[in-house]
Amino acid sequence: MTAPPRHGHAVVIGGSIAGLLAARVLADHFHQVTVVDQDTFPDSPGHRRGVPQSHHVHGLLIGGREAIDDLLPGFTAELIEHEAPTCDLGSEFVMLSPAGWAARRPCGLRVIGASRVLVEWIIRRRVLALPNVVVRQQTRACGLAGDAKAVLGVHVRPRGQEVPREPSRETVEEVLAADLVVDAAGRGSRTPAWLGDIGAAVPAEQSFDPHLGYASRIFAIPPGHTADWKACHLLPGRGDRLRGSTLIPIEGNRWIVTLFGVGSDRPTARGEDFLPYARSLPSPLVANAVNGAQPLSEVVTTRATANRRRLITAEPGRPGNLLLTGDAAYCFNPLYAQGMTTAAFGAVLLGDCLKAGHDPADLARRYHHRLARANRAFWYMATLGDHMMSGDTSGASPARRLAARYLSRLRAAGTQDPEVHLAFLQVFTALRTPLSLYAPSTFLRVLMPRPPRRNSRRT
Ligand SMILES: Cc1cc2nc3c(=O)[nH]c(=O)nc-3n(C[C@H](O)[C@H](O)[C@H](O)COP(=O)(O)OP(=O)(O)OC[C@H]3O[C@@H](n4cnc5c(N)ncnc54)[C@H](O)[C@@H]3O)c2cc1C
Repeated sequence: MTAPPRHGHAVVIGGSIAGLLAARVLADHFHQVTVVDQDTFPDSPGHRRGVPQSHHVHGLLIGGREAIDDLLPGFTAELIEHEAPTCDLGSEFVMLSPAGWAARRPCGLRVIGASRVLVEWIIRRRVLALPNVVVRQQTRACGLAGDAKAVLGVHVRPRGQEVPREPSRETVEEVLAADLVVDAAGRGSRTPAWLGDIGAAVPAEQSFDPHLGYASRIFAIPPGHTADWKACHLLPGRGDRLRGSTLIPIEGNRWIVTLFGVGSDRPTARGEDFLPYARSLPSPLVANAVNGAQPLSEVVTTRATANRRRLITAEPGRPGNLLLTGDAAYCFNPLYAQGMTTAAFGAVLLGDCLKAGHDPADLARRYHHRLARANRAFWYMATLGDHMMSGDTSGASPARRLAARYLSRLRAAGTQDPEVHLAFLQVFTALRTPLSLYAPSTFLRVLMPRPPRRNSRRT
């Protein structure tokens, strides 16, 4: 039997994946949880303005999916019920790095291919059905009420009246009183500015921009299509061109294909450029797949790919009852598919903090310390990967340069040795931490790699 909620009212800004999962755990501890979102939620899986990234490939890491299953039992089963395809990460998800094709062997790690809109819709239906979760759609948060010690609530306005002339500010704006406020407003979160407005310390930010551009399109999988792979990830090869692609199968017998490139190699939004760009990749696999496949969408591009973290734990002077989660706290280069997973991990640890009996009025420090610890490995892998992709580790610390060299050797060893590739996959899919890559069994296989196999399986 669960204990009755002990606290009053929590307000969550943003009803996307991070906000909904936070609302799910808050519902166990608060009498009422109000989720505020600027959009109207579609009744079925569908795109909306506040989540423009939903047009792009969204890989859901196994660790993240398991965390969502813990919060919403049956989530994975629902994805599969909606015909989201599964594939074995070791044998059916083929990966090309500058070192070559990763060795293939079934490994029992199964990933599920699903559109971002399906993932969010399943979570939303479940969370908004909770009796003490209330949603305010078409409502934009526009500031905090309170001071540096505590927030008292959130200023909200109906969407479209952000800069009202008539009626006056007072009549359209209201304050949603809250005992705890969680900012889950994504990359565009305005919390730092709002903290400044109430006289609180503005958190410093760290960012690392790989200058990556995405162009994505959905295709119908051609009838009768057969191949010995189901999904692929092509990282840029060595040389001048920093171009790659991810293709995954999703519900509805479709492929979602993202092309990506760095700097002047970014792909365009023109439909006629898609196939030629795919042909310029280090492998023809994606071009061959989409050539002749029927496009089901326009090409959508984005450059919102920078890594950014807010250093919320560093110094005092901020309200104890204001938390950040999801992309509002940490955004990662999406190439590493970490965003939904870290949002889920953040919700789990928020639940742990509340279960441990910490007072919401003084939760921020503990929660953000734990979040920083949980996200350290993700930040490390994303920024290290970006350094390696750029081919320029000159600005990196000696430790990072060493780590980059080790990871390059690990990738090279992983082209011959499925055990080494499996060690990488377990980290890649958030089942183990990067430290596990240095376990003696893996370390030895990396330093003394198998000789190249003459008949090794190639794609
Ligand atoms: C191009 C791209 C590709 C990605 N690929 C992957 C991937 O492969 N795998 C993965 O795990 N992650 C990926 N991500 C990251 C992933 O999309 C996010 O981490 C995940 O959706 C969680 O985001 P969020 O809930 O924190 O914020 P978002 O999903 O951005 O949602 C923010 C919400 O807040 C609302 N909002 C914003 N401002 C206000 C306001 N002032 N008032 C009220 N409501 C507001 C918006 O309407 C929206 O609903 C990708 C991101 C991008 C940009």
